[in-house]
Amino acid sequence: MSKTRYHNLEVAEVIEETHDSKSVVFKIPQDQKDAFEYLPGQFLTLKVPYDGKQLVRCYSLASSPHVEVVHKVTIKRVDGGRISNWINDEVKVGDSIEVMPPAGLFYLNEASNDVILFGGGSGITPVISILKSALKTTDRKVKLVYANRDEESVIFREELKQIEQNHSDRLDIVYIYDTVHGFLNPDMVKEVTTGHVGAEFYICGPGPFMDTVENTLLSEGEEKSRIHVERFVSPADPDEAAALEAEAIAAAGDSTVTAFKVELDGEEHTIDYEKGDTVLKSMLKAGIDAPFSCEEGMCGACMCEIEGGESQLGINEVLTDEELEEGWTLACQCRPISGNITVKFPD
Ligand SMILES: Cc1cc2nc3c(=O)[nH]c(=O)nc-3n(C[C@H](O)[C@H](O)[C@H](O)COP(=O)(O)OP(=O)(O)OC[C@H]3O[C@@H](n4cnc5c(N)ncnc54)[C@H](O)[C@@H]3O)c2cc1C
Repeated sequence: MSKTRYHNLEVAEVIEETHDSKSVVFKIPQDQKDAFEYLPGQFLTLKVPYDGKQLVRCYSLASSPHVEVVHKVTIKRVDGGRISNWINDEVKVGDSIEVMPPAGLFYLNEASNDVILFGGGSGITPVISILKSALKTTDRKVKLVYANRDEESVIFREELKQIEQNHSDRLDIVYIYDTVHGFLNPDMVKEVTTGHVGAEFYICGPGPFMDTVENTLLSEGEEKSRIHVERFVSPADPDEAAALEAEAIAAAGDSTVTAFKVELDGEEHTIDYEKGDTVLKSMLKAGIDAPFSCEEGMCGACMCEIEGGESQLGINEVLTDEELEEGWTLACQCRPISGNITVKFPD
């Protein structure tokens, strides 16, 4: 079954978590269980009809595939936000929502170093999934630094208390409240990471929170490759996305490429290229089983390297500046412009 198709999933449960957040549990039909397998930290993509448009929003799974059978996402209200408030106000048990199978590059890696998690507000969702899986499937030490406006706003307070009691030997949770401690600052980051040099760091929360953590870790000499960041953003509305796509097509308009090479799963293919198409579209037209998911430049499932020529990348919400410099691109948003291009997908 294609990983990309939206599936109509029934809402099995709606849980009021705090005054401004709710969890939604989806019922996964037996024949779709494989498509909805996920790694701790990955997200679901929901497509919601809203005001005459189809709006797409990603929500990280707060459940753990190693601990729970349910697929649970948790949505915090955003001031003036359309879908977060719609979910909190309108969604009820028995409703059907179009959901794309799990995707994303922010997940627990296979290593044995300490796992240090930084969650801010709703950014707790992917990190609690990673936390639960790390405790269940490894013997790594885990530390969660969890920042919120105040105690009232803490999502999963009871669940975390339970987990902490059951794993007091290797789990440490540090709560930070804006109203008591102020915003997380570099000194606090240094203090909470003392003794964890060389750990794996996972960060998700408001922009300034993530920047403070990441910059402090880098200034303390931690390697970029061990610092994982998930940014919660909304993709462009369909009309804005269409305008951005038109811009991207125009920017790649004088492409001289008529074919390009692809290395995928140890095989090399030569793919015909029609001006305006993306790398992904060309591959799918050629019948190649390319990896992809959202097709919106959001999930990173079609991440690949491009060599031997010039290309143009449209919407990119997932690759960092460093990854772009290293030559990574997104097949769903990349258009070849010139040269003997070879597209390489990671093994
Ligand atoms: C990988 C990933 C995982 C995520 N996981 C979670 C999660 O677990 N939990 C969670 O709560 N969120 C999560 N998010 C964020 C989520 O996807 C949404 O971005 C968030 O819920 C806000 O969506 P919204 O429709 O309510 O707000 P939007 O309507 O997108 O509004 C966002 C901001 O833009 C303003 N705005 C309002 N109308 C418009 C308009 N017409 N045009 C432009 N801007 C407008 C709003 O005032 C608001 O400040 C995740 C995001 C990503 C990318």
